[in-house]
Amino acid sequence: MSEDIAQKYQVLIERFSKSMPDAKSELNFESPFQLLVAVILSAQCTDKRVNMTTPALFAAMPDAAAMARRSVEEIYQYIKSISYPNNKAKHLQAMAQALVEKFSGQVPDNMDDLLQLPGVGRKTASVILICAFNKPAMPVDTHVFRVSNRIGLTINSKTPAETEKILLKHFPEELLPIAHHWLILHGRYVCKAVKPLCENCIITDICEAFNNNH
Ligand code: SF4
Repeated sequence: MSEDIAQKYQVLIERFSKSMPDAKSELNFESPFQLLVAVILSAQCTDKRVNMTTPALFAAMPDAAAMARRSVEEIYQYIKSISYPNNKAKHLQAMAQALVEKFSGQVPDNMDDLLQLPGVGRKTASVILICAFNKPAMPVDTHVFRVSNRIGLTINSKTPAETEKILLKHFPEELLPIAHHWLILHGRYVCKAVKPLCENCIITDICEAFNNNH
């Protein structure tokens, strides 16, 4: 790691640990299963909308066994106000079935097993690992990818997989869960996709994009 890059990560960690000491997922959940359902529902949909949908869904189907007993159509009725409800209802039903059949109804706490579940890709599995089990991982969504490139945490990274590899190398393992949330929240509220709010940003001095434009 070059000294410049190491210094950049260090400054970011110091600033964000002060400004966002409790950064965490904005999805509401009370178990790994509920988190998995919420994350599947959140694809192409806001966390706010998912949080409006899940209370009734979780009251009716609090765990994998209860969801596995319901039909796709029944699940659909609870989630029809969010994006892509047909596909998501199918995924949820198949995912709950697989949990019951292969994992005794429990969400597994490792990447290989999580990837066996229908509707669960690497990004979703990583979110479950860090948010439900506090295990080291770095899911790279559109916010994490964009913000890392702009700040210069990654240099010319072309793919989420490349960004994931670099972030995993540079952040201390114990900080990975919170660092993931720092980058998402920073991207969602400050370093926005179309018009970043640089005037509100607390890391302008270490930001590659900002310093290249000023
Ligand atoms: S200075 Fe601007 S571009 Fe850089 S991280 Fe902050 S908001 Fe994003």
